[in-house]
Amino acid sequence: MSDDCLFCKIIRGEIPSSKVTESNTALAFRDVNPQAPTHVLVVPRVHVTSLAVATDPAMLGDLMLMAASVARLEGIEESGYRVVANTGPDGGQTVDHLHLHVLGGRHMKWPPG
Ligand code: 5GP
Ligand code: ZN
Repeated sequence: MSDDCLFCKIIRGEIPSSKVTESNTALAFRDVNPQAPTHVLVVPRVHVTSLAVATDPAMLGDLMLMAASVARLEGIEESGYRVVANTGPDGGQTVDHLHLHVLGGRHMKWPPG
């Protein structure tokens, strides 16, 4: 846990969020500025700054499995979706707590911007 971290505050319930699902190790909630009809963030309960410094394979596996669960819950499993981990400055990361974006409900372009 990090006192000043936005997503740690959401995990602790100090900042409200729209929860989609949760487990002992991870939490999924809607992005406040959605970029697609479904835009959900999946975060580990432990504070890890980014994918670049993540070392726990079980935690990373839990995040990926929760991303797939979110897609199922949101009804976009068949239509498809995108899972993104923006990492560092060039990756466009703005919140320094590891998170997966689950995006769907519209066709995603490639290459991304
Ligand atoms: P990043 O840019 O680091 O990959 O993603 C951070 C995401 O967090 C952004 O998509 C942004 O909209 C979202 N975000 C920022 N502040 C809040 C907040 O207070 N609540 C929620 N639910 N999402 C937030
Ligand atoms: Zn944090």
